[in-house]
Amino acid sequence: MINIVLFGPPGAGKGTQAQKITETYNLIHLSTGEILRSAIKQQTPEGIEAAKFIDKGELVPDELVNAIIARKIDDCRSEACGFVFDGFPRTNAQAKRLDTMLTKKGMEIKLMLSLEVEKEELIKRLVGRGKESNRTDDQDIEIIKNRIVVYSAKTMSVKEYYKAQEKFFPINGMGEIDEVFERISQTIDKVNPPSEV
Ligand code: AMP
Repeated sequence: MINIVLFGPPGAGKGTQAQKITETYNLIHLSTGEILRSAIKQQTPEGIEAAKFIDKGELVPDELVNAIIARKIDDCRSEACGFVFDGFPRTNAQAKRLDTMLTKKGMEIKLMLSLEVEKEELIKRLVGRGKESNRTDDQDIEIIKNRIVVYSAKTMSVKEYYKAQEKFFPINGMGEIDEVFERISQTIDKVNPPSEV
């Protein structure tokens, strides 16, 4: 089983593509954003803490998201777990923690797929999503813009972490969902060829 980091700015299509990847390659989808939104809905202590940051478009503290991911990795008892990490890691400290957590389990990240989308397109997609969903952080243009600023300031450098490990694969994230998925699956199959029968 392989472990994939699906990376990209807000609105790049990580959630949509992560779902397609997990279905096609039989992996487990771990979205920190989704887990946090569900914790907020249930008003757990983690959710209440996370909401303070999410509602401003800021990053939730590393310790909080690292703890969530550690629990999810530990939950998998099978030898053959493979994860798609969606929206995690978002800082270099998270990337390092993820490597430590996986190493303990005899696992590793095989590739980081980085969805590359132009800024104007990101804003257009997020504003559109805000009209259809009730995500609080998609409702306000200033919060949307702040999330993109935070991505450039704190998250983008995570690419360098994976480049140094020769695991970085940029993917053109512009165009139709299926076109983007085709690019993704070609990359996964090149790095991890499907076993020949
Ligand atoms: P997402 O659904 O991935 O766009 O995440 C929504 C929001 O949840 C982000 O804007 C952050 O406030 C928070 N969040 C999700 N994942 C992380 C993470 N790995 N580190 C810090 N904050 C996160």
